[in-house]
Amino acid sequence: ASLDRGKPAFIAGHRGLVGGAVLRHFREQGFGHLLTRTSSELDLRDADAVEAFFAAERPATVVMAAAKVGGILANSTYPADFLSDNLRMQVNVLDAAARHGATHLLFLGSSCIYPKLAPQPIREDSLLTGPLEETNDAYAIAKISGVLQVQALRRQHGVHYVSAMPTNLYGPGDNFHPTHSHVLPGLIRRFHEAKEQGAASVTVWGTGTPRREFLHVDDLARACLFLLENYDDPAPINVGVGEDLPIRELAELVADVVGFEGALEFDTSKPDGTPRKLLDVGRIHDLGWKAEIGLREGLEQTYAWYVEQLAAGA
Ligand code: GDP
Repeated sequence: ASLDRGKPAFIAGHRGLVGGAVLRHFREQGFGHLLTRTSSELDLRDADAVEAFFAAERPATVVMAAAKVGGILANSTYPADFLSDNLRMQVNVLDAAARHGATHLLFLGSSCIYPKLAPQPIREDSLLTGPLEETNDAYAIAKISGVLQVQALRRQHGVHYVSAMPTNLYGPGDNFHPTHSHVLPGLIRRFHEAKEQGAASVTVWGTGTPRREFLHVDDLARACLFLLENYDDPAPINVGVGEDLPIRELAELVADVVGFEGALEFDTSKPDGTPRKLLDVGRIHDLGWKAEIGLREGLEQTYAWYVEQLAAGA
């Protein structure tokens, strides 16, 4: 059966970066019955609560965008929480979805599920071919379990569930925590504060040589709907832009967008993480989807959003 936009759709994690963008997009695209719950209304780690929610609301479509996420420091500081919270949320949501008749489900993973030294750009079939990057292996194992759960549910119950693996994401609604965020919001905040304070330099973590790819979350939200409607295969599918850049260049770009004119310093006592993480996006391009928001344009829009939030006292 094809996805029916009039039937109830549950966006798990709608207060997060991804879920928020998915919710905006689905609203614009004419979904008539969108279900959301904050974590205080429904703790997805609580199996009984999740079961009761699905039994009562019976969503036909589910986007599993709820996860405990963080940057390189948060992942290496709280590995037990990343493993346990993510496993429990996924198992509860995916099992309840299948049990209560959800016909379509999209599970969101992450590019860190691929082996640390996977050939670049990373193809979907490199999953489980080598050791993981150790700074986020607990999170990665949880996400790999989710991919396997999607495949197992398809085999056992014949459901049309799919997994998407987005590259590094950014955009409005991101977490701008000074130490536990991902690199882009971390740098936006640091460069902004340095500009405000008239500081002479800004410190960037690591050597500046690792390469990363960045996808705007509004592009990902479009991909989520596209995949729910056009993709039905057990293999996870990559979602990215197909281009990356060194952290040093990223930092220069952020400095330029923010208007910080001082120097960059590199703190090599901080971890670099994996040397490169560029996704092969041939598969989703062949299906007819590609990213549309350029990095500079996306950064300008995200920085404007950040400044607005500060002004609003958020
Ligand atoms: P990763 O892609 O899983 O490694 O996650 P991150 O977004 O946390 O880090 C990406 C790269 O940016 C790593 O090489 C970090 O060392 C580097 N980096 C530079 N400055 C920062 C910063 O302020 N915050 C974070 N999180 N990473 C930074």
